[in-house]
Parts: sequence; structure tokens; C-alpha cells
Amino acid sequence: RLEAELRAARHDNEVLARTDSLTGLWNRRHFEDTVETEIERARRYGTPLSLLTLDADHFKRINDSHGHHVGDDVLREVAQLLGQQIRRSDLLCRWGGEEFMVLVPETDGDRAAAMAEKIRQRVAAHQFAGAGRVTVSIGVGQAAPGETADTWLRRVDAALYEAKQRGRNRVVLASEPATSAPAA
Ligand code: GH3
Ligand code: MG
Ligand code: MG
Repeated sequence: RLEAELRAARHDNEVLARTDSLTGLWNRRHFEDTVETEIERARRYGTPLSLLTLDADHFKRINDSHGHHVGDDVLREVAQLLGQQIRRSDLLCRWGGEEFMVLVPETDGDRAAAMAEKIRQRVAAHQFAGAGRVTVSIGVGQAAPGETADTWLRRVDAALYEAKQRGRNRVVLASEPATSAPAA
């Protein structure tokens, strides 16, 4: 009895350590623990795996003009909108600050980009409490065969950076990784 209670408490603690307290989404720690497993699974079954990385545009301005509390509310609302657009098998997390990640199994880059575009439009059309209009930029990319999580994430982050450079409020699909020299 006591042992079961201890086990349950330990489990609750584990979940808490993997949860973002502001939004209730998974946090970066949980994402990092899960991504390797998902890459491995996709490889084993030969299914595509994609990633969206989303960053709120000019978020500093939102805080500066409306205050930090309104900024927090915006983050919660973005989290809610994202939650409504994903499937149960997708992993949604708050990576940190005003940045979110969605890991999308069994989905190739083109389909993930279409999903990202829907999310982008949904956010852009939303009336945020106290802040009005908020837009997001999204980088998208499918994991390449044999690619490490680290390289993949960096590639998708570069796509996000490009979306910012190209004017924000847009989706950019990452280019495929440079092919390595063929094995001798
Ligand atoms: P960009 O379009 O280039 O992304 O511009 P930005 O202003 O969104 O980006 P920048 O990285 O300059 O600023 C991010 C801001 O997000 C600064 C930081 O204070 C704010 N921020 C990070 N975490 C939180 C949070 O939990 N709550 C609130 N209210 N603000 C946060
Ligand atoms: Mg950011
Ligand atoms: Mg930002």
C-alpha cells in the first residue's frame, strides 16, 4: 500500500519534471528524451518523421506594450491553439521562452509544412486577449536517413531563421541535408 503510494508519487514527480508550468505542455526535457526514441522508431518502420519549430514574432514588443502578464496569456493561448491542431500521436512541447516544438510521426516534410501553414493561419486569425494580433514563424523539416537529432534540429532551426529573415508570419521547409561523400 505504502509502496504503491510512493510509486505513484514518484510517477507524478516525473511527469511534473517534464511539464512546462506556464502552459501545461511537455517541456524541453521531455522532448529531448523522446526525440531519439521517435527517430529510432521511424527508422525501424521506415516511416517519415517531421518536426515543426515555432517562434512567436516580435514577442518582446508584446511584453513591452502590454506587460509580461499579457505575454504569458499569449503563450498559453498559443499553446491551446497548437493543441487543437495536432494529432494525439504528435508531441507538442514548449521548448523555452516563446518557442514551441511539434514532433510529427508518420508525416513527410510536405505534409508537415501544410500542417504548419494551417497553424500559422489559425494563429494569425486569432484575437488574443489583451494583445490582439500575434503571428508566428515556423521552420519545418523531415528527418533524413541516418541523421542525428542534433543535426536535424539545427536544420529545422535554420529554416525558422530563414522564415524570420523573409519577413516573419511564414512557414519555411528546411532544405535536405548536404549529401555526404559516397562510401568507398
Ligand atoms: P523575433 O520575431 O525575431 O522572434 O523577435 P522576438 O521579440 O520574439 O524575439 P526575442 O528573442 O528578441 O525576444 C523574445 C522575448 O520573449 C523576450 C523575453 O522576455 C520574452 N519571453 C520569454 N519567455 C517568456 C515568458 O515566459 N513570458 C513572457 N511574458 N515573455 C517571455
Ligand atoms: Mg525566440
Ligand atoms: Mg520570437
